[in-house]
Amino acid sequence: MKKVKYIFVSGGVISGLGKGITTASLSAILKSKGYQVTAVKVDMYLNVDAGTIRPQEHGEVFVTDDGIETDQDLGHYERFLDISLTRANYITTGQVYQEVIRKERSFEYDGEDVEAIPHVTDEIIRRIKEAGEKTQAEIVIVEFGGTVGEYQNSLFFEASRIMKMRSPEDVLQVHVAYMPVPPNLGEMKTKPVQQSVRMLNSMGIQPDFIVGRSEYPMDERRKERIALFCNVFKEDVISNPDVPSIYEVPLVLSEQNMGEKILKKLGLGVGGKDLSPWKKLIKTVKTSKKEVKVAVVGKYFATGDFQLEDVYVSVIEALKHAAWANERKPKLYWVDSEKVEKEGPEKLAEVDAVVVPGGFGSRGIEGIIKAIKFARESDLPYLGLCYGMQLATVEFARHACGLSEANTTEVSPKTPHPVIHIMPEQEKLLVGKEYGGTMRLGVYPCKILKGTVVYNAYNQDKIKERHRHRYEFNNAYRSEMEVKGMVFSGTSLNDRLVEIVELKDHPFFVGTQFHPEFKSRPLRPHPLFVSFIKAAVIRK
Ligand code: GLN
Repeated sequence: MKKVKYIFVSGGVISGLGKGITTASLSAILKSKGYQVTAVKVDMYLNVDAGTIRPQEHGEVFVTDDGIETDQDLGHYERFLDISLTRANYITTGQVYQEVIRKERSFEYDGEDVEAIPHVTDEIIRRIKEAGEKTQAEIVIVEFGGTVGEYQNSLFFEASRIMKMRSPEDVLQVHVAYMPVPPNLGEMKTKPVQQSVRMLNSMGIQPDFIVGRSEYPMDERRKERIALFCNVFKEDVISNPDVPSIYEVPLVLSEQNMGEKILKKLGLGVGGKDLSPWKKLIKTVKTSKKEVKVAVVGKYFATGDFQLEDVYVSVIEALKHAAWANERKPKLYWVDSEKVEKEGPEKLAEVDAVVVPGGFGSRGIEGIIKAIKFARESDLPYLGLCYGMQLATVEFARHACGLSEANTTEVSPKTPHPVIHIMPEQEKLLVGKEYGGTMRLGVYPCKILKGTVVYNAYNQDKIKERHRHRYEFNNAYRSEMEVKGMVFSGTSLNDRLVEIVELKDHPFFVGTQFHPEFKSRPLRPHPLFVSFIKAAVIRK
């Protein structure tokens, strides 16, 4: 059996560097060279998964096929690698400690004094190796959350040091650090990188590659300085400047032969490379000049003075993929649903299509319902994702079926018309306060009714999509709403759960109980998003 190789990617100087995109791009490059690659995200918080973290705090919760609620970086990995990852690809401090404490309580340490090193580090290493085994990877890329020098992630660094010590030829360290260009100096500074490498050195880690993230490309002089002070070869200092599209990053890194250099150091054959699909995509991105305008109506945008698009990153990326597939330049507008609640939806007349992504709770939902009504009545293409599907049925019940007090019981537990209600299994869980990882999660099959808008999009009568919800459509209202023109075009195989709704007399009005955005890839755009954007283009 071939030995598995491991590449650790750490960050320095600031967070929000684009370390996830760098990791994902590196994975894509190595995959393009014919290797089986997987990517693992390590998060330092004590949460067992990302499911219980507030969206404004954490960004999107990405869901895998096998139903773990993870960090949005797994979404980037899936999009760049074009593979489906598993729960083994996501490791948190919470999972690690949970297992170590479980073992201690069941006397699996045989009376030993259980310590952070080696017991916690061993559990980290076990999980990293397991991720490689489960996905049959030849190369496992592990990204550390946070930056070097934080107390909270130091045990993960320590685990990587131990792995390299045990098997130096199989482990590489890549450090991604920020190189500022202070406006008053107008010059790129390398000192912060030097210091963050010193910090790594003090933990016993010497990087093999240093990737300089910056607004600008790095010149030869900076590369020389970093090489000199950080103890790396100049050719292993890689420039990773801002580029207009994240999907260009594999090309940027590959131009500097980063893939070849990595494989050589790992003792693997360098092989050819085929990045032509990425080149073709970037060409489309650059040559698609005609715009398609899409409003994303959501509630998690505002954080203080900042707008947070991170919460909907998979939706945003899926819209971009679909726009490019239609040779259109995506122009996305973030519309705060609380604003629509106060100011009305009329401004939406300026866009070509409306999306309502997933969400929870009651804040802003009346604004969302106004936006949906507007889209329905003005034949504006509409795509509702999870909450966006549920609220579309609420809107339809209220304004097309005359059930003016219709609602979801999530918002109004005592509504006389609970068109969306909690799934019975879910109710029990909530009574027992079992919140973590207990929603209806991961992939489920769905059958599709022939002759519908979604059938035309998928061109299949059975699909599999990913879910994350506790509530569902109430079948008591099915026939009543059908009579008024709602089509239940997708259901679970036993017909019990409504998974997709659409409208008969509308160019494109679709709501899905699942999240198709999680399965859209730049090189394989999601058919439902592609049809949605097509409808927007036709309307234009
Ligand atoms: N809040 C809704 C539910 O739990 C929708 C969830 C979502 O949009 N992901 O069913």
